[in-house]
Amino acid sequence: MTARMPDPLFPLTEEEEALLALTHQVCRREIVPARAELDETGRFPTAILAKFREVGLFAGMFETEYGGLGLSPLMPFRIVETIAQYCLGVATTFGASTTLAALPIKCGGTDAQKQKYLPALASGEKLGALAVTEPDAGSDVLNLSTTAVKSGDSYILNGVKQWITNAGQADIYCIFAGTGSKGGISCFIVEKETPGLSFGQLENKLGIRCSHTRQVVLQDVVVPAENLIGLKPNRGLLHLLQTLARSRASVAALSVGVAAGAYQEAVKYTRQREQFGQKIIRFQAVQHLLADMLVKIETARALAYRAALYAVQQYPAANTFSAMAKQYASEIAMQVTTDAVQLHGGYGYSKEYPVEKMFRDAKILAIYEGTNQMLKNQIGDHIVRTAAQIE
Ligand SMILES: Cc1cc2nc3c(=O)[nH]c(=O)nc-3n(C[C@H](O)[C@H](O)[C@H](O)COP(=O)(O)OP(=O)(O)OC[C@H]3O[C@@H](n4cnc5c(N)ncnc54)[C@H](O)[C@@H]3O)c2cc1C
Repeated sequence: MTARMPDPLFPLTEEEEALLALTHQVCRREIVPARAELDETGRFPTAILAKFREVGLFAGMFETEYGGLGLSPLMPFRIVETIAQYCLGVATTFGASTTLAALPIKCGGTDAQKQKYLPALASGEKLGALAVTEPDAGSDVLNLSTTAVKSGDSYILNGVKQWITNAGQADIYCIFAGTGSKGGISCFIVEKETPGLSFGQLENKLGIRCSHTRQVVLQDVVVPAENLIGLKPNRGLLHLLQTLARSRASVAALSVGVAAGAYQEAVKYTRQREQFGQKIIRFQAVQHLLADMLVKIETARALAYRAALYAVQQYPAANTFSAMAKQYASEIAMQVTTDAVQLHGGYGYSKEYPVEKMFRDAKILAIYEGTNQMLKNQIGDHIVRTAAQIE
């Protein structure tokens, strides 16, 4: 066996290579035999998350000061990409806690808030969720009806949040609410057991069915003012934008993972399926389809990693690059999973092969954390803003 050459563009340390190899191993052992049943029943992947905890995947997503492994900036993106290769439902559950919910605290929290909440997320002992969307405020995300009214040393929160990943399962909720007369918003850390916090029915979804999605209902929920992220009101938009710059790059990585998983299934299948007396991978039309899939995956991966590094380093155009990466990668994930079904013929249309699930799962990538139409609006704004620089 020849030793693997390190990738000169995105190098990893030996420890990081080993952790990614371990991630593949754990996913093959824990996810592959369970994913069809998790999809069918919508059962939450508790045992798989426990295994992730045990092997240090939660810690791999965090800096050392919070009990994490302090890996290189790209590693959290590569970990979620790897998990998504096997099951986007599990990867969404994991990412919603380790990325989406952790980021407002990482980006805007005080030292005390970081020390209180991030180590529990980094150990995987507690799960997190982020709640911004409402029944009438999806793409129009600043049009929030949820309110947080100051009362002594506390805020009182009222409202309903819609489509919240990990709702009901999570222990720690980052909840966005209106705090200003001029439409200002703020983010609050709310613990699960807080009186007045409750959860809706489990949503019965097309895909990512083991990722639990519910409403979060807030009825006179009293939150100590010390749980207002950054302690200053009306800074929620800044925290949300900083969060999305990184989390959208992470969704791009999830998209690359799903596409890579479907591509690998397609290669495996076309290598063993015979028609007209030969393996179907020998047909040029099949090779061309596989070639298109591979080129799309590699292009999306390069853009996703670039966006990820820009986001971590707070490069000025990071938000635009994250939008581009998520929009492109989610589109190719849908195309590649569709082609993977095609290459399986009739078998691809049945639950006997995992590409059927991957195809259903992939659809969410162009919807959550900003629809692709909204991302194109954002990219369009960037084009207009910078148009004068073109001579
Ligand atoms: C499975 C799942 C998990 C989710 N997890 C979370 C979570 O953890 N936390 C959270 O806060 N939210 C979460 N969401 C919410 C998600 O981010 C929203 O669903 C998404 O932002 C779209 O909002 P909407 O569903 O209200 O659609 P709408 O905003 O009603 O959009 C409907 C359609 O209109 C288009 N549209 C709307 N406005 C414009 C415009 N100005 N220009 C062009 N097109 C437009 C949209 O692109 C879309 O095609 C989740 C959603 C799902 C389905």
